[in-house]
Amino acid sequence: MINGTLAPPQGPVDIVVENNRIVEVKVVGFPGVEIKESQRPQLKPGGKELDADGMYILPGFVDTHAHIGGVAQGTPAEYVFKLWMGHGITTIADPGSGNGIDWTLDQKNKSNKNEITAPRIKAYTFFGSNLHSKSGREDISTPEAAREWVRENAKLGADGVKFFGAEPAIMQAALEENKKLGLRSKMHHSQIYVGRWNVLNSARAGLTSMEHWYGLPEALFADRTVQDYSLDYNYQNEQDRFGEAGTLWAQAAEPYSEKWNEVMNELLSLDFTLSPTMVIYEANRDLARARRAEWHEEYTLPSLWDFYAPSKESHGSYWHYWGTEQEIEWKENYRLWMAFINEYKNRGGRVTVGTDAGFIYELYGFAYPRELELLREAGFHPLEVIKAATLNGAEALGMADDIGSITVGKLADFVIVEENPLVNLKTLYGTGAIKLQDDNTVTRVGGVKYTIKDGIIYDAKQLLSDVKAMVDKEKAEKGYKITQPGMSGSKN
Ligand SMILES: [Zn+2]
Repeated sequence: MINGTLAPPQGPVDIVVENNRIVEVKVVGFPGVEIKESQRPQLKPGGKELDADGMYILPGFVDTHAHIGGVAQGTPAEYVFKLWMGHGITTIADPGSGNGIDWTLDQKNKSNKNEITAPRIKAYTFFGSNLHSKSGREDISTPEAAREWVRENAKLGADGVKFFGAEPAIMQAALEENKKLGLRSKMHHSQIYVGRWNVLNSARAGLTSMEHWYGLPEALFADRTVQDYSLDYNYQNEQDRFGEAGTLWAQAAEPYSEKWNEVMNELLSLDFTLSPTMVIYEANRDLARARRAEWHEEYTLPSLWDFYAPSKESHGSYWHYWGTEQEIEWKENYRLWMAFINEYKNRGGRVTVGTDAGFIYELYGFAYPRELELLREAGFHPLEVIKAATLNGAEALGMADDIGSITVGKLADFVIVEENPLVNLKTLYGTGAIKLQDDNTVTRVGGVKYTIKDGIIYDAKQLLSDVKAMVDKEKAEKGYKITQPGMSGSKN
C-alpha cells in the first residue's frame, strides 16, 4: 500500500470497506511470509473480497486540470471519461466547464450516482460565461456586476470559477466575492492582462490555485515590468504567443535570489496552490516526442488528431515553423520553472497534478503519468509525486475529508497496479512499460489493473479497450489513418 500521505510503502495489508467508506486498514504480515488467516479481518456475510495479492494499491488519482471538452476536439465525453478512469483518475476538476455549467453539473450528478463510468467531477465556470445558455459571454464591466455573476454562479451549484484575466478592479471584486462564498478558483493568467495583474495580485485577492505558470515569472520580474515582446508580436499568432513565452522564465528573477524567495514565501503564506500542468507544453521542448507518442495510433480519435495538426486557427496547434531554437528555449524555461515548483514543495507548498489534455498532442489519461514523470524530473521523490497526485489534489479541491489518501473514514477510491509504480512511473501508462524478460522476450508490464471508485471495481484495461474500439470504429467509417504533418499522403 502506498497511502498518499508520504508514508513509505507497507504490506501486506487488508483494507476493509463498508458502505463505500474505509473502515479498517490492517497490516496482516510480512513480505515473503505466508499470511496467517486468523489475523485477517473477517469478511462479513454478503461481502466481497478482491484478491490483489502481490499488487500495489494507491488512492484514486486526482486531475486538477481536466477539460471534459469535446466541441473543438470532436471527442465524446465517454471517450474522455474512460481514458481517465483507465488511468486510475477517479476525480477531476473541469476548469471552465466548456460545455456549459448546466451540462457539467448534470454529468457531475450522474457520476456521483455512478450512473455513468466517470470520475467524480468538480465544475468550475469560466468567469463571465453566460450562466443561462450554452454559449456566449456576459458583459461584466463593473465590480458590482462581477460580484453579481460570482453569486449567481455559486447559486447554480458550481464548485468554483476559472479566470483568464480582467480589469484589476473586476478581478479584485470577483475573487473577493468568490472567496467569501467559500468557492475555489483557478486561473490561467492571460498575457493580455498580466501586465497589471499577476499571480501575486490574484493570490492576495483570494485566488486559491494557479494553472500552468503564466503570471508567475511576471510576479518575479526584478528589472522590467513587461515581457520582452518582439516588436512585431501578435497575440493572435500562436507561434508568437507560445514561442516567445519560452523565453519568459529567463527574464524573471533568478532561482534563490531575494526577489524569487520573497514571492515564493508570500505565496506560501497565502496557502496558494500550484497546478503546473507541465505536460501540456511538453511538445514545446520536444515536438517529436509528443507527436509520435506510441498511444496515438490506437487511442487518439481522428477528429482529435486533426485538431492537433498545425493550424493558424486551432488553439494549441502553433507549429508554423517550430524548430531547434524554440525547443532549446523551452528546455531552459522548464528548468527554471521546475526549480520553482520543487522548492515550493520543499518549503511546504501544495503542488497538484493537472494535465489540460486534449490540446498540443496530449491525450486524456496518458498525459497523467507523464505529468508524474515531469514532477519526478523537477526533483520530487516518487512518494512526493504520489502525494501530489492524491492528497494534494484532494486538498486543493476541498475534498480531503473524503478522498486523497487510504485512511479510515475516506471513500473507497483506489488504484491497483501489478508493478511498483515508485520504481518506474511508466508502469502507470495504459500501454505499460517495456520490460525484457530473462528469456530475452520483450514484454509490457503495468498499466492500471483496477480503478475503484465509490467501491465499484472497474477493469481498467477493459475501459481502455472500449476506447480503442471507439477509435477503430471511427477510423473504419472514415477510412482514416494517422499521418504526420506535411508528409506526402497527409491531409494535414
Ligand atoms: Zn486548461
